[in-house]
Amino acid sequence: MSKPNSTTSEPSSDFIRNIIAEDIKANKNDGKVITRFPPEPNGYLHIGHAKSICLNFGIAAENNGICNLRFDDTNPGKEATEYVESIKSDVRWLGFDWNDRLFYTSDYFEQLYQFAVQLIKKGKAYVCDLSAEEIRKYRGTLTEPGKKSPFRNRSVEENLDLFERMRTGKFEDGFCVLRAKIDMSSPNLNMRDPALYRIRRVSHHRTGDKWCIYPMYDFSHCLSDSIEGITHSICTLEFENNRPLYDWILDELEVECHPRQIEFARLNLSYTVVSKRKLIELVENGHVNGWDDPRMPTLSGIRRRGYTPESIRNFCDSIGVAKRDSMVDMALLEYTVRENLNKIAPRVMTVLRPLKVIIDNYPEDLVEELEALNNPEDPGMGTRKVPFSRVLYIEQEDFCEDPPKKFFRLAPGREARLRYAYFITCVKAVKDEKTGEIVELHCTYDPKTKGGDSPDGRKVKATLHWVSAAHSIEAEVRLYDHLFNTVNPSDKKQAEDFKDCLNPNSRETLTLCRAEPSLAGALPGSRYQFERLGYFCVDSVDSSESKLVFNRTVTLRDTWVKIQKAQKKG
Ligand code: ATP
Ligand code: MG
Repeated sequence: MSKPNSTTSEPSSDFIRNIIAEDIKANKNDGKVITRFPPEPNGYLHIGHAKSICLNFGIAAENNGICNLRFDDTNPGKEATEYVESIKSDVRWLGFDWNDRLFYTSDYFEQLYQFAVQLIKKGKAYVCDLSAEEIRKYRGTLTEPGKKSPFRNRSVEENLDLFERMRTGKFEDGFCVLRAKIDMSSPNLNMRDPALYRIRRVSHHRTGDKWCIYPMYDFSHCLSDSIEGITHSICTLEFENNRPLYDWILDELEVECHPRQIEFARLNLSYTVVSKRKLIELVENGHVNGWDDPRMPTLSGIRRRGYTPESIRNFCDSIGVAKRDSMVDMALLEYTVRENLNKIAPRVMTVLRPLKVIIDNYPEDLVEELEALNNPEDPGMGTRKVPFSRVLYIEQEDFCEDPPKKFFRLAPGREARLRYAYFITCVKAVKDEKTGEIVELHCTYDPKTKGGDSPDGRKVKATLHWVSAAHSIEAEVRLYDHLFNTVNPSDKKQAEDFKDCLNPNSRETLTLCRAEPSLAGALPGSRYQFERLGYFCVDSVDSSESKLVFNRTVTLRDTWVKIQKAQKKG
C-alpha cells in the first residue's frame, strides 16, 4: 500500500511505531503489519478520527502492510447507512484506500455467536437474569469487590439453552444478558463478569431483523480483529482498562490470531468538541447547519470550509502520538492549512465591504487590462489580466477620515498604492447627508505609477486590493470564527452544558462583496487567496453559476488585524 504525500517529512517515530518496529525485528506475525480503522457508523467523522486514520493507514503503508476499514456496527438504532457512506467518502478524501478490505462487524454476527457458545461450553460465560440496575449494584466499586450473581452457577446445558432462546426471541428486551464469568473481585471493574450479549429488538441497517441479540463492544471488537488477522489493534486511551478483557476473551477462545492492543491519546482540539455525541446534538438542535457546516470539526465540515486533505495529514503528522491526553491548539491546524494553501492557492482580489472610489482624472471610457501575479510563491502559476477603470471598489476599512497614528492606509490627502495598478491620492470623501456614512471617495491617480511602481522613489505605506466596479462580480462571503467561546467547552468547570459555550458570532455572512471578474464560473471546492484577506473556498453546497458563495477557510496572519484591535482598545 502506498502512502499519500505529505509536505512535511515522514512522521517522526513514536512509541507505537517503535513497538511495531520491534515486532517486525522479532519476526512476530511473520513480520506482517495489519491494522484497521474501526469507526462506528453512528455519526460523521471528525478531526480526531483523522488522527486515527492517518495513524492506522500510515503505519500500514510505512511497513508494507495493509489497513482494513471496518464498520463497528453492533449498536443498531443509532447507526445508519448515511453514516457508512459519509465515512467511506471521508476516508477516501483524506487520501487513504482500503482496496477490497471493507468489513462490517455485522458480517461476523454468526461467527461471534458461535464464539459465545464456545465460551459457554467452557464454563466461561453464563446467562444472567439480573436487571441492568441490579447488575450495576452487584458490580461493586473501585474500593469494594462485587457480588456474584445468583445465576452465575447455572449449568453449561442450561446456559446453552437460555442463550439459544435469547437468540430466537423467547425473552423480552433486557430480560437477561450473556455475561463472561471472570472475577467479581477483580480490581479492574471491566473484569467483573462483563456483559457480552444483550437482547434488543432493533432493526439493523444491514442485517434487518435477523438478530434480536447483539454483541457488546468488548466481545465483538477483539474477535473481529482476530478474524481479520489484525496484528496491531490501535485504539484510544479510554480502552486501556479494557485491554485485559480483550486479551482474556482471545485467550479463553484460543484463537489463532491474537492482536496486540496499543492505546494512544485521543486528539482534543481547542475551541471545539470532538465527540460524535456532542456533534450530533449540535446538528439535531440546529446550532449548526448540518454535519458539513464549515464551522464543524467534522471532516465534511472542514472539507467544505476549504481545508486540503494534505494539510490535515500534515497536521496529524505534526501533532505526533502520545500516551497522555492533551489539547492541541486550533491555531496549529490553521497554520498547517495556511502553509499548504500559500503554495497552491491562486491569488485574486475581492472586496468584502465595498466602498466606491472614483478616480477623477482617469478617462471615462478607458479600461486597462493590468497584469497580476497568480502566486508570488510560485511563478509557474503565471499571471492574469485584471481590468482597471475609473470607478473602483476598495474595502471600507481601508479608508479612515481621521486616521489614528498607526493607520497607514487611505485618508484625505494621503497617497496609497492599488495593487498591480497605480498610486492614488484621496481628494475628498462624500458622505450620506442623513447618516454621515462615507459613501464614496474621490481620488486622483498618477499615470507614472502604472503597475504600482514608484517612478521617483516616492514611498507609500499601504497597498490596497480593489476591483473595477463595472467589471466585478457579485459574491457572498461567509466569515467564520471559533464555534465555541472557550478553549475547552467540554470542561465541566467552564459550563454545565457545552452548548452554553457556543460562540454566537461564529459566522458572519457578507452578501454585497465584489470579486474580480476572473472568478466568474469558479468551481465549487476551488480555493483562492483573496489578497490581504485570507484563504477562501467556493462553497460546495450553496454556490451556483448565478451566485458565487465563498467560505473563509482561514485568515492571513496580517498585522493590521492586531493594529485594529489596538485601535479599538485605545
Ligand atoms: P466519539 O467519542 O467521537 O464518539 P468514538 O471513539 O466513539 O468517537 P468511533 O467511531 O468508535 O468513535 O472511532 C473510531 C476510531 O477512531 C476508534 O479507534 C477511536 O479510538 C478513534 N478516535 C475517535 N476519536 C478520536 C480522537 N479524538 N482522537 C484520536 N482517535 C480517535
Ligand atoms: Mg467508539
